[in-house]
Amino acid sequence: MQAIVDPVELSEAGARAADAADPLAHCRERFRFPRIDGREVVYLTGNSLGLQPRGAPDAVIQELDDWARLGVLGHHDARDPWLTYHEQFRQPLATLVGALPHEVVAMNSLTVNLHLLMVSFYRPTPERFKIVIEGGAFPSDSYAAQTQASHHGFDPREAVVVVGPRVGEATIRTDDLEELLEREGDSIALVMLSGVNYLTGQWFEMERITRSARAHGCVVGWDLAHAVGNVPMRLHEWDVDFAVWCSYKYLNAGPGAVAGAFVHERHARAGLPRFAGWWGNDPSTRFEMQPDFVPREDADGWQLSNPPILSLAPLKASLAVFGEVGIEALRAKSVRLTGFMEGLLAERAGGRIAVNTPADPAQRGAQLSLVVKGAGRETRDRLEQAGVIVDFREPNVIRAAPAPLYVSYADVWRFVETLQSVLT
Ligand SMILES: *Cc1c(COP(=O)(O)O)cnc(C)c1O
Repeated sequence: MQAIVDPVELSEAGARAADAADPLAHCRERFRFPRIDGREVVYLTGNSLGLQPRGAPDAVIQELDDWARLGVLGHHDARDPWLTYHEQFRQPLATLVGALPHEVVAMNSLTVNLHLLMVSFYRPTPERFKIVIEGGAFPSDSYAAQTQASHHGFDPREAVVVVGPRVGEATIRTDDLEELLEREGDSIALVMLSGVNYLTGQWFEMERITRSARAHGCVVGWDLAHAVGNVPMRLHEWDVDFAVWCSYKYLNAGPGAVAGAFVHERHARAGLPRFAGWWGNDPSTRFEMQPDFVPREDADGWQLSNPPILSLAPLKASLAVFGEVGIEALRAKSVRLTGFMEGLLAERAGGRIAVNTPADPAQRGAQLSLVVKGAGRETRDRLEQAGVIVDFREPNVIRAAPAPLYVSYADVWRFVETLQSVLT
């Protein structure tokens, strides 16, 4: 999984040469860039909201047109019939997360999917009721864990176990997680971490953690919000129980885009309890309108409603780009591009900037989380005025994500130059 890469020479000429030799350079043309003062920005917030694929408007307009032309007949007669519209996402999503096509489904939004899958996969007993989440988890995940625990009658202060970094460290050691499993594994029902932590950019050792947790009899679910479209994964092979993700970060499917979910095939036929809706029913009997639910025996069986076609359409444009490029090629550029950013920052601003993200490329994706001494939100604002978009998280973290689909080495150069001048 670890890509072997040549580092890029830490200079403007190095950046230009790397762009000229970049086999993915053309992908940039597939996206629309915001402009500030007439100039394309350096966009380092693809981990928050990915840029618009140029194919997105056409994909949406096709559905608006088919709706206008066909009305209800569009369910069968649209160019991409709505009845089966969501099925076209199975293969491309499965490829991205390393799953079998029937193990994934595009549906709902992320936190909704998290709750729906916890309904099936968090089945606490008086002996085994804890949920492990990471310290510094995204608030929504933390709320979901706490309210699921209290929904089952447990005190969330006791049921939700937070594993954090050691004092003085920024990221979480897998050894510490394993030590927790060793100590409390018998009482842990669910281990639910994010694949890549949104704040530090740490890519957890997903395979190893999944194996250890399952060996202790725990269910393992991953929130892949910052991992999907960013790092390669093998959910099926790793024997992950379930996973969820959103599609508006590295997947570039637009604000509030339709999210995704993975359910390992070994659970599909297990008759797991769930909150059901008609779209999860076996399609061969769905329209018989019978009162008793017969789930489809795959990830589709967790769907509730007929899908929002207009919101799904941009995902089609986005996944088309991923399909052409492939996550492995993307990852190879990502490792090199992020390494270039890291090297430049160390050389040009090393005294003032600490990087919270792991230095090991195998433990991070396309994001560096920077703690800039004596600087806060105003640094972000000044960068924006200079045409560089990064994001700031309280109290002092600047996140910069060189998403390899559309960020160039020259962009990274411009970012570090601009940061340096803003700081002096
Ligand atoms: C972005 C993100 C969310 C956002 O949740 P939505 O339901 O899409 O609003 C939740 N969890 C994590 C880990 C995230 O990174």
